[in-house]
Amino acid sequence: MEPCAIAKTALEVLKKLYELGKRVLREKPRLKREEYVFCNPFYYRKDRPQQPLCVKCFENDREGPMAEPGVNVTPSYRQCLLCGNIVEVVTAGEGRSGC
Ligand SMILES: [Zn+2]
Repeated sequence: MEPCAIAKTALEVLKKLYELGKRVLREKPRLKREEYVFCNPFYYRKDRPQQPLCVKCFENDREGPMAEPGVNVTPSYRQCLLCGNIVEVVTAGEGRSGC
């Protein structure tokens, strides 16, 4: 096989992978609810409990990481990096329950 032909084949494979990747993104599987836990006011992945996740995105089967408190908003709020949803942070002892 000519080096050029190999490169062409590799390119075809990459293209196919790219198409496949696009399809996977479009038909994104639903989030596995059992892998997450709700702790007011955010969802958390059980294996990544330090990263709060947006409830709004979670309902749309997306993982929306929340920015640090006070980023683009006042310090008692956190903003979703995915959809821009702003949520007031509940501090310990203020209705934090079930977690
Ligand atoms: Zn969100």
